[in-house]
Amino acid sequence: MPARNILVINCGSSSIKFALVNEAHSQFSLSGLAERLGSPDAVLHWQRGGEKDSLMIPGADHRAALSQLLPLVQGAAGGKLHGIGHRVVHGGERFTQAQRVDTSVLAAIRDTAPLAPLHNPANLQGIEAALKLFADLPQVVVFDTAFHQTLPEHAYRYALPEVLYREHGVRRYGFHGTSHRFVSHRAAQMSELSVGDSSWLSAHLGNGCSTCAIVDGQSRDTSMGLTPLEGLVMGTRSGDVDPNLHSHLARTLGWDLAQIDRMLNQDAGLLGLSGLSNDMRSLEQAREQGHAGATLAIEVFCYRLAKSLAAMSCALPRLDGLIFTGGIGENSPLIRSKTVAHLRLLGLALDKEANARCIRGVAGSIQAQGHPRVLVVPTNEERQIALDTLALL
Ligand code: ADP
Repeated sequence: MPARNILVINCGSSSIKFALVNEAHSQFSLSGLAERLGSPDAVLHWQRGGEKDSLMIPGADHRAALSQLLPLVQGAAGGKLHGIGHRVVHGGERFTQAQRVDTSVLAAIRDTAPLAPLHNPANLQGIEAALKLFADLPQVVVFDTAFHQTLPEHAYRYALPEVLYREHGVRRYGFHGTSHRFVSHRAAQMSELSVGDSSWLSAHLGNGCSTCAIVDGQSRDTSMGLTPLEGLVMGTRSGDVDPNLHSHLARTLGWDLAQIDRMLNQDAGLLGLSGLSNDMRSLEQAREQGHAGATLAIEVFCYRLAKSLAAMSCALPRLDGLIFTGGIGENSPLIRSKTVAHLRLLGLALDKEANARCIRGVAGSIQAQGHPRVLVVPTNEERQIALDTLALL
């Protein structure tokens, strides 16, 4: 059977990220982004082989952008597209793995919207547009939360009145599941361990950041909770704060919920701490030049990340290794070394040269000799979504 092609789609409220994944190749045959959808500046960018191109698509909505994409995808797939995999942020408690799209699955994603009011409706828009345009193709949804449905109850429950959980679904769900799953499988392969008998700490550090404890191929705890705001310091998200902060700000500054929400999600994290940028590369450069805010943001980021990893270690029977992934985890020797320096009690230490070498897609082990394994593993959520889609065809 010739290698199959899957189109992977990730829809935001005004954007579509896409990648055409061929099961036999690690490079995407086509990838890109449609952004500013619904506005006069809507534009489609794509990359095929080494070539980049773009097309203005003024006023295009999700469906119009996908129909512009269609001939590009068919061309890159040589007319042989086998299915579509959609990333969906929240699957609630209903979805523990990927699903073929049907009306009951669509209804369940719609029902989960109160848990992810920004993301699930946008994901649905993309699925519905794709169903109309690619009516003959099998379509699959892959949930960010599904991998974490194996958390034990003592890890997923908040210490809140039970009725909030039973009747309103207030519990910890976790996100980035597709990435934590992908890198923990790769880590086991790289270490010649069986996934079913391995024990990992994983740190996915992109614009959003989370940690995860993975035992025998299952998520046992993770730092994000009911929403992706809980846990680590992120690009613009605060991560953990005192849960009384809302009432404190309301009382002392008269802020309303929308203001507080916006501050915690968009103005906080690395951006808020540094007063400069949400982008780790810029912060590292500014730190080099002595910028106090950037220096502090990096210190807080690494310390809080290390604290989270130490907390996650409570869920492990032993430590086969710590995995760094995501844009920061894959590219920043500084963040890796500062974080690991706080984890001496776990016995972790890095090899300076190996740490410096693993950047820009280079995977490898970076621990100092005689210390527990530390791995840099580039994530590939699109590939994992394509593999999950293929598994269901
Ligand atoms: P997303 O979560 O949007 O997919 P990425 O995984 O691409 O984001 O991660 C983006 C983050 O990775 C940004 O903070 C960016 O500055 C950081 N990053 C990328 N390259 C480097 C680098 N060489 N050094 C430090 N940080 C980097």
